[in-house]
Amino acid sequence: MTIYRATVLDTPVDPFTGGTLRADADIALAVTDGRITARGPFPTLRAQAPDDDVIDLRDGILLPGFVDTHVHYPQIRAIGGLGKPLLDWLEHSALPEEAKLHDETYAAQVADEFVHGMTRAGTTSALVFGSHFASAVDALFRSAERSGMRITSGLVVSDRLLREDLLTTPERAYDESVSLAARWRGHERLRYAVTPRFSYSCSADLLEACGAAYKDIDDAWCTSHVNENVTEVAEVARLFDGSSYVGTYQDHGLLDAHTVLAHNVHPTDAELDMLSASRAAVAHCPTSNASLGSGMFPLAGHLKHGVRVAMGTDVGGGTGFSLLKEGLQAYFIQSLLGAQGVPLTPAHLLHLITTAGADALGLRDQVGDLGVGTQFDAVLVAPEANSPLAVGVRHAAGPEDALAKVFAMGTPSDIAQVWINGNRVK
Ligand SMILES: [Zn+2]
Repeated sequence: MTIYRATVLDTPVDPFTGGTLRADADIALAVTDGRITARGPFPTLRAQAPDDDVIDLRDGILLPGFVDTHVHYPQIRAIGGLGKPLLDWLEHSALPEEAKLHDETYAAQVADEFVHGMTRAGTTSALVFGSHFASAVDALFRSAERSGMRITSGLVVSDRLLREDLLTTPERAYDESVSLAARWRGHERLRYAVTPRFSYSCSADLLEACGAAYKDIDDAWCTSHVNENVTEVAEVARLFDGSSYVGTYQDHGLLDAHTVLAHNVHPTDAELDMLSASRAAVAHCPTSNASLGSGMFPLAGHLKHGVRVAMGTDVGGGTGFSLLKEGLQAYFIQSLLGAQGVPLTPAHLLHLITTAGADALGLRDQVGDLGVGTQFDAVLVAPEANSPLAVGVRHAAGPEDALAKVFAMGTPSDIAQVWINGNRVK
């Protein structure tokens, strides 16, 4: 057993439904085999285990590991392609880079860079958009397994309107998805996600094949994009004879509680009802939405309709792996929406990047907060002494104020240590 002595902030109860920030100064977390087995005042826990190791983390703030519910592994080298709307950005920035992952050596390097980027930023669990190439998805799973991260990912499939070398057929998409899932089944902390890129680039036959794979793969997840950009939304309606965008997934058996759809910036009320009824979750990716000019996320509508919302960095449309930055950007967007926005507190932001993500990925019984029974996936924010963040935290009026400063100023460089399942990965 190891005892971690720290100031711990987490959100075990959803702040959107009455929960508040749980803040405990100088407490102890007892961790055995990667799991938190006790939590309480340091003197009490110490008295019960006088001979066990104590790791003193009182120079920082301990948070639960962050959960990224939408991020593209092949796009780490495409971050920063500024100045284009979605479809131009895909054609000129993202897809030329994605095509390079055909080369297995290249893909292996990118996979390592990607996993390193995420853990360095404090992300310990993620739903990852894989690659159009099965060999590159293998590379990602290999890197993820080495790191210990909880990764859900799969083969990205498209059969129209993208560059030729990224296209597949419904039959091949089904076969490759099922065999990839079988190959990685049973590997600890890795799960398979059926991944149609978006209905824009997927024919009805391909979505049908994805639906079949989703049904045939045990414990599969499903992820895609929805309602990101107005031009894309209009094209999808045209391609599917006026169907709603969410409806294109529902009609092919791809919408349920294991589905996470990214963006949903431009939903109709009927689509929000469909998402709510199916228990599918939405990954809100605000730096990407701002960078690509996609629009401002209607969080109030999602909450009103009872749609589950978590957060994603959407690298490389997003501007980096930091979920602290995404939380801040979510706050900015809601603030800019004025009366239509949802005022977000630091507790809401922490919830969105931890417990909400864990809930969206069906991992809430394992991670998301730092309570007894959860795995020790944790992030220590410990900024350089006398940096503006360190000064701000030192002079904060209380834990909520300190957390606000972490979101306002925190970067991956301020994250001193990261643990997954009790193993230190940074
Ligand atoms: Zn995306």
